[in-house]
Amino acid sequence: MNTQKQFRPRYSFEFFPPKTPAGMEKLQTARDELARRKPDFFSVTYGAGGSTQERTIETVLKLQDQGISTAPHLSCVGSTLENMSSLLDQYKEKGVTRIVALRGDLPSGMVSAGELRYANELVEFIRDHSGNHFNIEVAAYPEFHPQAESAEADLLNFKKKIDAGANSAITQYFYNADAYFYFVERCEKMGMDIPIVPGIMPITNYSSLVRFSNMCGAEIPRWIKKQLEAYGDDLNSIQKFGEEVVSNMCEKLLQQGAPGLHFYTLNQAEPSLKIWNNLGLSGDDKIRF
Ligand code: FAD
Repeated sequence: MNTQKQFRPRYSFEFFPPKTPAGMEKLQTARDELARRKPDFFSVTYGAGGSTQERTIETVLKLQDQGISTAPHLSCVGSTLENMSSLLDQYKEKGVTRIVALRGDLPSGMVSAGELRYANELVEFIRDHSGNHFNIEVAAYPEFHPQAESAEADLLNFKKKIDAGANSAITQYFYNADAYFYFVERCEKMGMDIPIVPGIMPITNYSSLVRFSNMCGAEIPRWIKKQLEAYGDDLNSIQKFGEEVVSNMCEKLLQQGAPGLHFYTLNQAEPSLKIWNNLGLSGDDKIRF
């Protein structure tokens, strides 16, 4: 973890683009709560194949206008170079300086993979098209990507994104800090020297967490699963236990040199803020262990 310790810790919150005016209002409330903590940036997800394109742009520009740097996610799967160029130009013109560059997953029913196949090609494309204008974030998988040929191949593929010009990485969420430490150490041994920021998913609901984790290859350790199962429909206990487990993991991550945290908020402020407060992170002077 020596390389990671040299980076200033940074904190960010991720949103998805709401589908309805009521959803936008809810996001606005969450945004206001979280903005008071002075995060380094917000980010807004993007539906692969461009399915949320307009809503992502609209949400990014709205948040950006309210004074906190906002990073659109951009995925290349199912998209054309022309479309991606136009999005990059639009973002640049509106003062966006950070992009989360992803491959994405082809939505079911969509057959055309698009002109770029992997995220490293997208990073290369952004660098060719926009030079060094954007700070490029990429995805990292401490428990490995579900489609990876092998752990080794996945690490080498992650390195390709850095070699193509990525500035930093955000990880898939995990509930086992050792998976992150081991991943980072392997990256460091391979000479990768960018911040690898843990992605943090607060635990608020058991069944949706299990469904989502199965899809994205994030493991819920047995002891956590069993305890959550035992709470049944008791949401209060699930959330209390989840808050404790995730706060403890975040504390360990920061203590051992993780360069900040990125919260998957699912457009709710409270679960992330509870963890934030438990960690004693203040708005102005974020903790340095
Ligand atoms: P890649 O880095 O391209 O990797 C995908 C797979 O291909 C891996 O198995 C890798 O080992 C392999 N691979 C990579 N490069 C090569 C290569 N050159 N040759 C051969 N094999 C290769 N999805 C969305 O749709 N919208 C979002 O907004 C979104 N945001 C995300 C944010 C974060 C922080 C994370 C961690 C994930 C996010 N995702 C999002 C999910 C992501 O799109 C999926 O996990 C997707 O399956 C992989 O995207 P990637 O950018 O990691 O792909």
